Amino acid sequence: MEIVRCVSCDGFGWYEDDFTGESSDCDWCAGIGYVYRDANGIDHKIPERDWARLADQLEALEQERMREMGYQGEAKKPWEQHIREGTQGGQNPYEKGRDEKTDTSQND
Ligand SMILES: [Zn+2]
Repeated sequence: MEIVRCVSCDGFGWYEDDFTGESSDCDWCAGIGYVYRDANGIDHKIPERDWARLADQLEALEQERMREMGYQGEAKKPWEQHIREGTQGGQNPYEKGRDEKTDTSQND
């Protein structure tokens, strides 16, 4: 099944409440920011049991999204935190990229 950006939260995985200023997970994608789209064009929540299997794919989509937005570094998403548990360690690839960028500019 195709994985697409959640249309409800536009890939953020959360909302900020206009009234309270508090953020809460997007109900449509369970805070992942991405959903399955079936052959009929219907979007479905990605079940938690699939997160680890899709981690690389979701991460690639996320990096693409960040490039589109023109920046790196953002609050960690819930799915990132869960996926990292017990897998490849908790290193944040976006933090790493930002550090490298900083180092380069310092060397200049
Ligand atoms: Zn969503």
